[in-house]
Amino acid sequence: MIDMSRIEIVQFPYFSDNYGVLIHDRNTKKTVAIDAGDALSYNKALDEKGWNLSEIWITHHHWDHTDGIDSLFKRWNCKVIGPANHSTVPIRHLSEGMTEKDSFLFAETPVKILHTPGHTLDMINFYLPSENILFSGDTLFSLGCGRVFEGNMFMMHDSLNKISALPNKTLIYCSHEYTKANAKFALSVEPENKTLVSHCNKIEELVTSKKPTIPTNLELEKKINPFLRTSSPSIREKLNLPNASGGEVFSALRKAKDIF
Ligand SMILES: [Zn+2]
Repeated sequence: MIDMSRIEIVQFPYFSDNYGVLIHDRNTKKTVAIDAGDALSYNKALDEKGWNLSEIWITHHHWDHTDGIDSLFKRWNCKVIGPANHSTVPIRHLSEGMTEKDSFLFAETPVKILHTPGHTLDMINFYLPSENILFSGDTLFSLGCGRVFEGNMFMMHDSLNKISALPNKTLIYCSHEYTKANAKFALSVEPENKTLVSHCNKIEELVTSKKPTIPTNLELEKKINPFLRTSSPSIREKLNLPNASGGEVFSALRKAKDIF
């Protein structure tokens, strides 16, 4: 059994709506950065805790997740773990490339890789089964999901299904604070969903008091996130797609959100 108290997690905002995360192992003093969009913000978070950066885990090649790699690498000479394949912009200083079902240890904590293409083709998510934590990058957001840029709708739907299959108690750290805008769309799709309505009130309070709405958890998202609810009869009725495949329902939802 892994002692839960070994791991400490710090989440901090950067740029207009990004979240960075540091994971610290108390026994070995090793520290991971999830993505590296802005070196200044990551260094500030590290210095506030007095932690030394040992690894960066990159979810995908977009600049707001990678622009700080050079500078962080220069200061910390850290390992850079990221997608092995499909990055249309190469990941700088990549020392270990990961693909679906790869796994490795961070200190004594097992880490599993989920390849979740759709937003980009290279997207990987980092799953810590012993801690019940997923770092979902720009694949799954609270009440939403990433835009489909490089993959196709069916690919993204499969990727979300992969996340849905994780245990309900999985805590989800995603890369953006998009929850309030996502809530508006979700409410337009399922105005009669009571769990959604009451959660949206909570989101409103959090955002008004400038508090993060992240992390979220899978059990809740399955009840309120339309993109995880493609089998919901009321959503299918709303879209007039009673007998469509899950992928077709997802596609209709994602296209509707793109122009919402
Ligand atoms: Zn992205």
